[in-house]
Amino acid sequence: PDMTTVRPSNVQPRADLATLPSYVPGRSIPGAIKLASNEVPAGPLPSVAKAIAEAALQVHRYPDTGAGELTARLAAKLGVPEAQIAIGCGSVSLCQQLIQATCTERDEVVFGWRSFEAYPIVTHVVGAKQVRVPLTSDHALDLDAMLAAITPQTRLVFVCSPNNPTGTLVRKAELDRFLAAVPSNVLIVLDEAYFEFVTDPDAPDGIDHVRERDNIAVLRTFSKAYGLAGLRVGYCVASKEIAAAVRKVCLPFSVNHLAQAAAIASLDAEEELFERVHEIKGERVRVRDELIAAGYDVPETQANFVWLPLGEHTAAFNEHCLEHKVVVRAFVGDGARVTIGTPEENDIFLAAAKSFSR
Ligand code: PMP
Repeated sequence: PDMTTVRPSNVQPRADLATLPSYVPGRSIPGAIKLASNEVPAGPLPSVAKAIAEAALQVHRYPDTGAGELTARLAAKLGVPEAQIAIGCGSVSLCQQLIQATCTERDEVVFGWRSFEAYPIVTHVVGAKQVRVPLTSDHALDLDAMLAAITPQTRLVFVCSPNNPTGTLVRKAELDRFLAAVPSNVLIVLDEAYFEFVTDPDAPDGIDHVRERDNIAVLRTFSKAYGLAGLRVGYCVASKEIAAAVRKVCLPFSVNHLAQAAAIASLDAEEELFERVHEIKGERVRVRDELIAAGYDVPETQANFVWLPLGEHTAAFNEHCLEHKVVVRAFVGDGARVTIGTPEENDIFLAAAKSFSR
């Protein structure tokens, strides 16, 4: 169109958005291995692909906005009432909905930092205030400091376990102590996006806590262990009241029926999917051991990625990996997060890491 015909207006985006950083997704580079987004390396199982293809025949219809069948399946699997579950367009959407459901402008949202990149963005977009609490020197969430950061304005605390991007776990005893001390009017969001990769016997199961108290919401996703990152489906388990509020602020129809059908088929195929997860857990140990043997500091990880706290060397490490056709996720000045891929992909990454000189 001829731009000279566009009439000028005074419409401006919100001024505060100008300084808000955008969410930077992991890059895909043709010909390179992508270990940047904590995806699983394998495509859908045949049974899942078939369910998606069948659901595709219904795309002229709106999806079931309540995701009734998926909700029922999850309720049965987890042993909680359906009323305590909310399905979302990825758990990142549920992060935003939980803030929308609990916070207004003067309220504060506490989270560890560094943690999942979306927390500061969704907090800011909703209009609440961010309170970032530094990690411990071991790259773990500092729950004591997070507790100390809670003020009368705090409405919500994100506890990401395993923590993205450091992979560290909050253990059960530590979480119990924290939950016992948190004021009961603060919602604790336990983000368990990587739950299925956890092997530590001292790990909590967030759902047990939802049964015991009203001020906790657990987030899980089909994006990681279930391999459905591209379809965008996650779930929140919380009290009836919180789950209802999360559903209320959801955009209608945001979880499409391909996603719902794929999630249901994935629950049917858990055994096969978790064999893949098992392989990733083994590779995670191998990758970490080899990195440590090569002189890297790598915190113990319970997720499908490793964290390399490279500080000022991060940018150079990122460039070096790109030269070796490996895309990692670099947080410049802080560290690099590397997803566990197939054994072959991991070998290529390890060769790149071993040839990097600081
Ligand atoms: N929480 C954490 C900790 C994550 O790392 C991610 C994905 N990077 C998400 C939530 C969001 O995942 P999704 O929206 O794909 O469910």
